[in-house]
This record gives sequence, structure tokens and C-alpha cells, in this order.
Amino acid sequence: MKPISSWGRLSHDHHHVIPLHDRHNVANLIKAKSGQPGIAYGMGRSYGDVALNPNGSLWLTTGLNHLIHFDASTGRLRCESGALLRDIQRLFIPRGWMLPVTPGTQMVTVGGAIANDVHGKNHHLLGSFGDHIQHIRLIRTDGTEIECGPSLNSEWFAATVGGLGLTGLIVEAEIQLRPTSGPWLDTETIPYANLSEFFELADSSEMDWEHTVSWIDCMSNKGQGIFMRANPNEDLKEAPKIKSEKKMPFVPPISLVNSLTLRPFNFAYRNFQKYKAGFGIAHYEPFFYPLDKLLEWNRMYGPKGFYQYQSVIPRNVGQDATQAMLKEIEKSGEGSFLAVLKTFGNKESIGMLSFPKPGVTLALDFPNHGLRTHKLLDRLDAIVKEAKGRIYAAKDARMPRELFEAGYPKLNEFIKYRDAGISSSLSRRLLGS
Ligand SMILES: Cc1cc2nc3c(=O)[nH]c(=O)nc-3n(C[C@H](O)[C@H](O)[C@H](O)COP(=O)(O)OP(=O)(O)OC[C@H]3O[C@@H](n4cnc5c(N)ncnc54)[C@H](O)[C@@H]3O)c2cc1C
Repeated sequence: MKPISSWGRLSHDHHHVIPLHDRHNVANLIKAKSGQPGIAYGMGRSYGDVALNPNGSLWLTTGLNHLIHFDASTGRLRCESGALLRDIQRLFIPRGWMLPVTPGTQMVTVGGAIANDVHGKNHHLLGSFGDHIQHIRLIRTDGTEIECGPSLNSEWFAATVGGLGLTGLIVEAEIQLRPTSGPWLDTETIPYANLSEFFELADSSEMDWEHTVSWIDCMSNKGQGIFMRANPNEDLKEAPKIKSEKKMPFVPPISLVNSLTLRPFNFAYRNFQKYKAGFGIAHYEPFFYPLDKLLEWNRMYGPKGFYQYQSVIPRNVGQDATQAMLKEIEKSGEGSFLAVLKTFGNKESIGMLSFPKPGVTLALDFPNHGLRTHKLLDRLDAIVKEAKGRIYAAKDARMPRELFEAGYPKLNEFIKYRDAGISSSLSRRLLGS
């Protein structure tokens, strides 16, 4: 038994960790013998309890990290589910291929990216991770094996993409990579003064820019922030020097993110980015994954950890609901250090429980101050519910069941595909088992 946390470090409960190394032996290791359910655990980059199962089994997938086959004529890559997105990017980008969709960290496994159907900065163009998966090999705890894809057992595919690890263990996947001219991007950084300006920028960028994202200063309810957009640079081919990452060396006794540091940080960040405003060229790693430069940055929040809260709100009420959330945050005094605002495109997600849907998504981090933080999150829930939005399960550790049920209308359909030998803290909290 080992203490295991997720990225938010809200708990450190003991788990019976079962490392998986041999894809041909997975069925034996996960077979429900003891009646004790388990759950897959990749890199633990989910913030809340979706990959946690206190006192139960965790099937650690990072040992299943082989690339099995690559077809250079089609760009199809077959790999084991514990392969890291970082390793795929670093191996294939110099060879002219890249992952079509990646989240804001590349320290994520293929299995984790499928199970949360993760999205990136190009959702408006390419949808989410599951849109690029051609095939999945799934093993259930009763020993059965299911092959599925967009046109093979497609109902199993729709349950497993974004299925929070609850339909079985993904052992292998085939991903359609995308041709790329190289590792560099042409970028533009634009300060905005309020939410109307943000939405104008987002709308006008959708046609001509592949990647868009913004940082929003939620210490002021004006909605000011910095908009960043990028396209592949077709000319620069030079291989980048990959700088080694730094590491947050210890867990400070109190959160370094607090009322004394938040305002000056947001002020300094805004002014630094304003100074950098305009056109530039960036390597894809710092542009797509800025936080990966400081390993274990989550320790900054101290021993009590932190909550991440990510919502998506339909576009017709997106501006008002975002404004209302900013007001609540300002009123509460619980500012967020890393607030990201972005629009999703109109593509409906494949997965029955996939998070992305057309609208605007706001991601916020809050140090865990117990009841005070919970009260704020409850108020944000009310805004999300009223606006007919939903909360991202990959980031969640506390949403109420009724908000989950209201946000995910295909939940009842999904339940038919659950594996009875799999359970997580999140599934017990939101699905009752
Ligand atoms: C800095 C940072 C930035 C992020 N940015 C984004 C972003 O921009 N967009 C976004 O969508 N997400 C983002 N995330 C969240 C992250 O991408 C997801 O939580 C992702 O699923 C984590 O993958 P993991 O390998 O760490 O999986 P874990 O967190 O270990 O597990 C996640 C889920 O996948 C399941 N799972 C893992 N492996 C398998 C398998 N082989 N078979 C079946 N189920 C499996 C687990 O049971 C669990 O339900 C970010 C996270 C961080 C820390």
C-alpha cells in the first residue's frame, strides 16, 4: 500500500498499486478476484479524484509504454496506453508528424488522454483527442477483450472516449498523427481590456489561427487579460535545444499562492505579457505546455493542495456567466493564479461523457482554504447550472451529483458500458458506485 495523490494534492490516501508492464498479461492482473474494484492510473495529471481509489487497487499504466507500429505512409501510430504524449511528440515532430491534439501538459499518457477526451488550444479546428483515435483495445475485469473504434463497436468507443477509465482498461490505441512542418510556431500576443474584446478576438481568430488561448486576470472583475494565438511556422526547420526542466524542490508549509501574492503576480504577469505583445516565433513546447518547465509546480500550493475548477458555458450566455463568475471570485477574495479562458469550436464530442461542447471554457485554480473555498465553488456551480453548462471531471474533486447529471445528458446511456470491477472516488461520488 502506498500513499497516492492526484495533481491537486488534496489527499494522500493509501492505495494498493499494481504496476502493469506486459500488455499480454494485463487481463490476469486486473481480473476481479477479490471483489475489490480498481482503477487505471496514468501520470496522475488529473487534478481531482477521477484516478483515485483509496484503500483499493490502482493499475499503474506507465510501464505499458511501447510504441508498437508506425505507418509512415498514413501517419497511423499504434502504441500502448502508458506511452507519454511528450515522448511521442519528441520522437515524431522531427520526422514530420505530430499529435493532432494535446492538453496544456504533455506529461500525460495516451490512456489518460483518451479516458478524459482531453482538449487543446486548437479545439475550434480539430476537436478533442478522441476525434483522432482510430482503434482501442480494451480489457475488462471479467477477462473479456473489446476492440473498438469510430466504425467498429462504435458504442463501446463512444463510452470509452471520455469514459473516465470506467469501461475497462485501455491497453493499446491507434492514433492518426498529423503532418507537421516542424517544431516552431508563429505567434501573436494581444492584451484585451474586457470580455467583449476577448470574444471579438476569439471569433476573429477562429478562421485564420490554429491555436488560441488566453490568460485572464481574475483579481479584477473587468475581464482583462492576454490573448495568444499561433500557427505552424512553415520555414524554420532547425532542431530546438530542449532545456532541462526545473523542479519545485519542496512543499512549503503554507501555500505560496495567497492573498498577499495573487494581486502582485497577476499584475506582474499582465505587464510582462503586455511588454511581449505583438508577433513572435515560439517553440511548440513552451507555447503549448508552459507549466511543464517547472516540474511538480503543484507543490507551490502547500500541504493542503488546491482545487481546479473548469466549466464550459454555452456561447449565447457565455459572456454574462463568465462575468458573473469573475464577480463572485472577486467578492470572495479567493483569487486564482492560473486562470485560462478559451472558446471551444462547434464540433460535438464523440464521447458520451466528453467534456468539450460548443461554448466558452474557464479554468481556475484555488488554494484549498476548506469551507471558504467550498462556498465559492458552490456559488460558481450555481452560475454554471443556471447557464446549462458543465464541469470537467478530469479537474473535479467535489462537484455535486445533480450538477454532473444535469451537465452530462448521455449519462444513463453510458452506465450500460461500465465495468463492474472498476470504481474510483469520483465514480462513487457521482455515480453511486
Ligand atoms: C498543467 C496541466 C494542464 C492541463 N491542461 C489540460 C488541457 O489543456 N486540456 C485538458 O483536457 N486537460 C488538461 N489537463 C488535464 C489532463 O490532461 C488530464 O487529466 C489527463 O487525463 C491526465 O492524464 P494522465 O495520464 O495523467 O491520467 P490520470 O490522471 O492518471 O488518469 C485520468 C483518467 O484516465 C483513466 N486512465 C488512465 N489510463 C487509462 C487506461 N490505460 N485505460 C483506461 N483508463 C485510463 C484514469 O482511470 C482516470 O479516469 C491538464 C493537467 C495539468 C496538470
